[in-house]
Amino acid sequence: MRMTGFSGRKIAVTGGAGFIGGHLTRRLIAMGAEITVVDDLSVGRREGVAAGAHFFEGDVRDVDLLRRALDGCDAVVHLAARVALRDSLANFRKDAETNIGGTLAVLEAVRDSESVSRFVFASSMAVYGDTQLGQAVRESDLVAPASPYGIAKSAAELYVKVAMHACEKKWFNLRIFNTYGPGQALSPYTGVVTIFRERMLRGQPLIVYGDGRQIRDYVHVADVVAGLIGALQSADADSGAYNIGSSVGTTVLALADRMGKLMGANLEIEYEPASGVELNNSIADIEMAKKYLGYAPTVSLDAGLTGVVAGNA
Ligand code: NAD
Repeated sequence: MRMTGFSGRKIAVTGGAGFIGGHLTRRLIAMGAEITVVDDLSVGRREGVAAGAHFFEGDVRDVDLLRRALDGCDAVVHLAARVALRDSLANFRKDAETNIGGTLAVLEAVRDSESVSRFVFASSMAVYGDTQLGQAVRESDLVAPASPYGIAKSAAELYVKVAMHACEKKWFNLRIFNTYGPGQALSPYTGVVTIFRERMLRGQPLIVYGDGRQIRDYVHVADVVAGLIGALQSADADSGAYNIGSSVGTTVLALADRMGKLMGANLEIEYEPASGVELNNSIADIEMAKKYLGYAPTVSLDAGLTGVVAGNA
């Protein structure tokens, strides 16, 4: 059955060939939206672009390309980024070039567009400073990024706020927590669930940075998509920052243990020194998103991991 809700809407998604972008665009098309994807395929794949989407292959820093891609769109979801928190320490210039520079180019094209009235930015939990173990962070809590990736996301958030306010367009900085689910590209830097699964399948030990007691909020990609859709649909939510997570904290060791049991794998762990750019505690308080974006995560960690382990699409 064809779902509706986005009929007559035309939405541009940068990074739409990637992990979250692929899930988001397929869902929006199923809900009746016309979708334009901008992606340089540095991580995303051509096959990952949703069937039926218009596709502009190129760099998100290319404002002319963006102007063409945004033609007639009413909203933009900006997901294109270098998504490699640990690597951002060694490559902070490259990180900033894409994650700040790319966002500025998109903001310029959005500002100059007559049709776009709403901008949704994929920010990150990496904008927050460390908090007490087990404590959830609120949007009003201290923004004190510990990594160049977090610094870039935080700077980009401020540009979004000031630039979109100045041209009177709605804006949403969604602070997305650790997203997992099917279809994530394997890389040494992202997606601990994807990396653990691959290593267990190959019979390799899991690498854990630090003591493994750091707490993360693992949120399923279907719930992240629901949060992005909430930001695209909400009629009366104020522009601002919103956490998108599960609100459940899980240690890296507990995650490894759960995945080991689900995969029937012998758990072998090798410890490496902590990188110094990752937080000890990261749990989302999601009351704002629940109240204003109609956000309500539905996929429990066990159900989500079972799907990933089974290799579901
Ligand atoms: P991803 O790497 O799968 O997707 C990013 C996409 O952007 C890729 O398809 C890549 O090819 C494209 N891209 C990169 N640089 C580009 C450029 N210069 N021009 C055009 N396209 C470019 O990552 P994802 O997990 O889908 O993340 C999407 C967004 O969500 C990112 O902004 C990321 O920072 C944010 N986010 C992700 C997580 C997570 O856990 N996955 C958590 C918080 C925030």
